[in-house]
Amino acid sequence: MNLKKYNILTKFYIITIFPEIFKALNNYGVIKKAIQKKIIEIKCFNPRNFTNNKHRTIDDRPYGGGPGMVMCFQPLYLTIQYIKSLLKQAKVIYLSPQGKKLNHKTIHELIQNKKIIFICGRYEGIDQRIIQDQVDEEWSIGDYVLTGGELAAMVIIDSISRFIPGFIKKTSVNEDSFYHNLLDYPHYTRPRTIKNMKVPDVLISGNHNEIRLWRLKKSLKNTWKKRPDLLKNKNLSKEEKILLNEIKKNNKK
Ligand code: SAM
Repeated sequence: MNLKKYNILTKFYIITIFPEIFKALNNYGVIKKAIQKKIIEIKCFNPRNFTNNKHRTIDDRPYGGGPGMVMCFQPLYLTIQYIKSLLKQAKVIYLSPQGKKLNHKTIHELIQNKKIIFICGRYEGIDQRIIQDQVDEEWSIGDYVLTGGELAAMVIIDSISRFIPGFIKKTSVNEDSFYHNLLDYPHYTRPRTIKNMKVPDVLISGNHNEIRLWRLKKSLKNTWKKRPDLLKNKNLSKEEKILLNEIKKNNKK
């Protein structure tokens, strides 16, 4: 592996009381390779190391009463200041169910940032004054509530890293679901037959144009059946219009 080939492009610095969780992201698959190739850098910072109390407590009871605990201002603030001294002009993002929702389109806003500090909340969340004073943006990975921001940070890092040059082949990203407002086509690999289910002949024909057309038609059919909303936002080419009309004629939903 030629490690000199790439510069560090994107740095993700994460504030979390559970840094161990990130081993699941950093030690496997394409992310691990991207870290080794220095395409991305992922570092964790534990706010417990920035407390000024003996027990390294980072949470306290909420003012006004009620259930749960709240992450305190001071350790989070000091952690952010420390990271900012290492990572100048980094964007500070708080993972929150109340944030802007991540999807294929909004991911592209995040990709513009080469330095991101993620704050992973726990318990009932973080002291509002951190959001007010330190946070540039809040991001959510969906309309449900997780127990902590760590999984959300991992989902965001994983999904935006795929678009970083050098991370994976561009063609492979281009053909994935959502890229062209279409879902992906079906994939097959060896063996040719399993339990009487055969790989479609066209895929072993060697005819590249036929294969391209088959895949495009399957993508259109998948999208029409499973996510018709995507087709509403798509400018169909002449070829795609013809294929979609054929699909509609020959299939019932
Ligand atoms: N009380 C908060 C609320 O209702 O808005 C939820 C707190 S949640 C139990 C704990 C932490 O998980 C949050 O501080 C946030 O960092 C993270 N979290 C939960 N759901 C999330 C989501 N959908 N997207 C991103 N982060 C989320």
